[in-house]
Amino acid sequence: MPIKPSAVTACLLMRLAVLASGWLVQPLLAAAPTADQASQSVTSAPSDTALATLLARYRELHQHPELSRHESWTAAYLAGALRAQGMTVTEHLGHYRDGLAAEGVMAVLDNGPGPRILLRTELDALPVVEKTGLPYASQLRTMDDAGQTVGVAHACGHDIHITAVIGTVERLLAQRTQWHGTLMVVGQPAEEVLEDGARAMLADGVYDRFGRPDVVLAMHDVSDIAAGAVGVVSGPFKSSATDIDIVMRGIGGHGAKPEQTKDPVLMAGELIVLLQGIVSRQNNPQEAAVITVGKVSGGTKRNIIPEEVRLEISMRSFREEQRLAMIEAIRRTANGVAIAAGVPEDRLPVVTVSGYIPVTVNDAAIANRFRTVAQAEFGADHLVETRPSMASEDFGAWSLPDHSVPVFCFWLGASDPAKVQESERTGVPLPATHSPQFAPVAEPTLRTGVQALTALTLSLFEQWPERLAHRSGHGTGLPVSVAPSPSAGR
Ligand SMILES: [Zn+2]
Ligand SMILES: [Zn+2]
Repeated sequence: MPIKPSAVTACLLMRLAVLASGWLVQPLLAAAPTADQASQSVTSAPSDTALATLLARYRELHQHPELSRHESWTAAYLAGALRAQGMTVTEHLGHYRDGLAAEGVMAVLDNGPGPRILLRTELDALPVVEKTGLPYASQLRTMDDAGQTVGVAHACGHDIHITAVIGTVERLLAQRTQWHGTLMVVGQPAEEVLEDGARAMLADGVYDRFGRPDVVLAMHDVSDIAAGAVGVVSGPFKSSATDIDIVMRGIGGHGAKPEQTKDPVLMAGELIVLLQGIVSRQNNPQEAAVITVGKVSGGTKRNIIPEEVRLEISMRSFREEQRLAMIEAIRRTANGVAIAAGVPEDRLPVVTVSGYIPVTVNDAAIANRFRTVAQAEFGADHLVETRPSMASEDFGAWSLPDHSVPVFCFWLGASDPAKVQESERTGVPLPATHSPQFAPVAEPTLRTGVQALTALTLSLFEQWPERLAHRSGHGTGLPVSVAPSPSAGR
């Protein structure tokens, strides 16, 4: 379709004026559009007809959840929807560390010179038996990687993200004469598996093969923000997560003769308590950190002192130096406990870092643009300023280890506004992501997701921030809030 320069320019100027001056300007300009402006103006919200189709897509995706690393139906569904829009789609991208082929999807549409903007959605669901009572609730059971039969449900709302990205692509391509640049979409598998989905795709060279984006955008639904509203945070967004395994090795024997043994159960108990001293006494209290011992296993019988006890730890932090210091402190503390118990040198603890996902740092310039766009689209009272979250996810990996690719993820409110108010009044939290009861209100959550992502993407295509703020948050003094923050994430 030929471009009408005058109309495009007029429309662009109108949107730039809105962006520059905030949402108050919009009604003035919108009051008297020219005929050209009215026919050419860009709209971010899906029509009611488009939304009905998206809601049907959402329910279909919701009833076909697939566990991490097994998203073949979901990946093909997304690929088909994007291909039908005219994007060039490549499937089956990536390999996991154990050699299994990943179900990564990359779609590209070249629409002339301009920024390269990548929209990323996750594909995977969780081993959760859904208890939302919704008519379209997942009834599925499946086999997990350990061979156990488990329920499977989109309890993290990744089906909302997939649908909203499809809706955003539809909005953008319906108005493709209004913007220039390259639109990219990633369907990322295995987000819920530490350090594997994004890593598998990046290690497959997707940035080399399909082009390195100028920015990567995403959303995540969240229960503590009302549907119809969005949340934003600049700088550190989600903490890094480090998985650490410790094997406390002792000398086993009879439960009645402890003097002939080195008891790893007692050592594990001491260690669990001392680990919290790392957070409270060795970590700078100005910097948020978490050490959680989530799993302890060992022993066979009450009157046998076992040979070893295993601890599985999840550690969260924002700054790399802090992270490395805490790993070292965990190692030192485990060794210290064993030495104090008299464990021989060849039976000292084995401490392994078994997984890591980096901190996600929202680019400040993109976050500021999002604030302007969201206020224009939804009004200032539907934009929530949030704090960094100690939950983690591998979205930050798309930024690359040197944070050279700006990334930005916003929160998408997903709960009934009345329930959010009630929760704030009573202090009782609403069922969050990963809960069997997590049930996003599909409408207006989906409409808002499409509208917010479309508006932000269009705004960046139209006017790329001249100077993207250097992502100086990483590696310097970072926020250290202990205030409540959205909890969606791994
Ligand atoms: Zn998620
Ligand atoms: Zn999740």
